Amino acid sequence: MSEGQVIIVGAGVLGLSCAVQLSRSGHSVTVIARDLPGDSHIDYASPWAGAHFRPSPAKTPAEQLEQQLMRDTYNELEVLAQEQPESGVKIVPAIEYFDAAHADSFLATENGYVDWPDFRILESEEYPAHHESIQLGVTYRSWVLNSPVYLQWCQRQGEKQGVRFVRANVTSMEEAVSLFQDKHRQGGASNIRAVVNATGRGFDDPNSYPSRGQFIIVSNQCDNTISHHWADGSSTVIIPRPLGGGTVIGGTKEPNNWSEDISSAATDTILKRVGQLCPELVNQETTATDDTHGFDIREVYIARRPMRRGGLRLEQENTSQGTPLIHCYGAGPSGFKISWGVAKKVELMVSNVQMLVNDPVDVSPD
Ligand SMILES: Cc1cc2nc3c(=O)[nH]c(=O)nc-3n(C[C@H](O)[C@H](O)[C@H](O)COP(=O)(O)OP(=O)(O)OC[C@H]3O[C@@H](n4cnc5c(N)ncnc54)[C@H](O)[C@@H]3O)c2cc1C
Repeated sequence: MSEGQVIIVGAGVLGLSCAVQLSRSGHSVTVIARDLPGDSHIDYASPWAGAHFRPSPAKTPAEQLEQQLMRDTYNELEVLAQEQPESGVKIVPAIEYFDAAHADSFLATENGYVDWPDFRILESEEYPAHHESIQLGVTYRSWVLNSPVYLQWCQRQGEKQGVRFVRANVTSMEEAVSLFQDKHRQGGASNIRAVVNATGRGFDDPNSYPSRGQFIIVSNQCDNTISHHWADGSSTVIIPRPLGGGTVIGGTKEPNNWSEDISSAATDTILKRVGQLCPELVNQETTATDDTHGFDIREVYIARRPMRRGGLRLEQENTSQGTPLIHCYGAGPSGFKISWGVAKKVELMVSNVQMLVNDPVDVSPD
């Protein structure tokens, strides 16, 4: 067991992955969070995610780092799918269609897009009927997961490795530290090795903002994940959720839209687009005039992705008096895809911390 406690604020996919990874490598971990697995809140993004893997080409250094985080995560989830399917992770074929694709830039070998397992360019005969706009279709091996089941699995995994979970809504990282110290005053003092900020959008970060997503969970079953990127920049996705979670279909991307109201126009568009993209999914016995368009709807919902101008904040901040403050938030639409890669980077930062005698615990930034 390494010296000193690690406090993680946040129990979304990033906080939980860090907790599992750190406790697995011998660190003592306490997670403090307003929302825990099993909860649902519009600002707790993780349980609402599809969630599936989609690659992206990597040309810039930031994109290359993201791709490396995705590969580390892919490797971890592939093993989980094989060895612990009760985690809610499953390997499935992915199909992706692009309307206005710049095929050359996607398919250039140096950007890594074509390197994913089982990658193949589709023949145009394989495109869905009545989709003349499609210019590129590809398939590869992907993972999908049932996010509520997976988050609970992560929490159980952490608990088995000694992670403690405390429910609290804090206004700052300093407050989280002070809460932790209050609890430990009764149980014996403990040095703090590092504090991890995995709060989704961070505290008062002017670069953070939400992107509202409207999605639908239906009972109609699909065996693979399908994405269609339209020329206007919108996307349609079909993501099967293992272990009886139905199929997530969607969706919208609405940066800075704070409304919690469901749009019936968006619901209608999603149902129609998904029905055209994958007619096999539709219950043909339901009449075309039915406003469910042949879907057995379980839930229509709104959630907020934690976006950040400049992308994910994954860095260690120097604090005025010592205790490292590690930020990992602002994962936008990709938190699951990069989760294990992020957790491994955080573990490296935590392991490199040199513990001082009577380590001070002031985490105010310089
Ligand atoms: C509809 C939808 C579909 C998506 N699909 C995918 C997908 O297919 N693949 C993919 O990779 N990603 C997907 N995403 C994105 C993904 O869900 C997010 O990137 C990810 O969930 C972010 O995780 P997080 O841990 O950073 O934040 P969150 O899950 O939001 O967790 C934040 C944690 O911090 C806690 N917290 C926040 N503030 C405080 C406070 N003041 N005090 C105490 N605790 C606090 C919260 O309670 C929570 O525990 C999707 C998102 C949505 C909304």
